[in-house]
Amino acid sequence: MTDATQLRYTPLVADTEIIFERLRKEGFRLTSTRKAVLRLFLSGESPMTVPELLLRLSTEGISVNKTTVYRELDFLITRKLIREVQLGDGLRRYEYLKGGHHHHLVCVKCKNIECFEMKACLKEFEEQITAEKNFTFIKHSLEFFGICALCNGVTESAR
Ligand SMILES: [Zn+2]
Ligand SMILES: [Zn+2]
Ligand SMILES: [Zn+2]
Repeated sequence: MTDATQLRYTPLVADTEIIFERLRKEGFRLTSTRKAVLRLFLSGESPMTVPELLLRLSTEGISVNKTTVYRELDFLITRKLIREVQLGDGLRRYEYLKGGHHHHLVCVKCKNIECFEMKACLKEFEEQITAEKNFTFIKHSLEFFGICALCNGVTESAR
């Protein structure tokens, strides 16, 4: 678990270059597809499904077939650059592994997904469960479903 004050959800352009450089040094090929997919994850603010990813790539004028995308996803997961996110609807989504343990706020109206980091996440509950059940924790996963500010009619400026 990371410090909740270390929120780093705003992706930095510099991150992209650092990651490219690291992969290059490790001897991995940086194909245009790999670069484009990585850039999308680094600039994306919420987890994406494969169709969403393909759509974004095509709006950037990059046409990739599904098999290639899945191969890239496997590669990025192995390199611990992205991770799979399950939100209980059976869809597989992927997001850039920002390092911080966090949860997701899912809007049931517009389906928007927001990453959210909680302070001292569930610590008390974990301690209670360990004390009462002698259960050793590895991790937990929790999603919140509701209606986002936009769907509630609250605009960014009014907040
Ligand atoms: Zn919404
Ligand atoms: Zn997230
Ligand atoms: Zn948590």
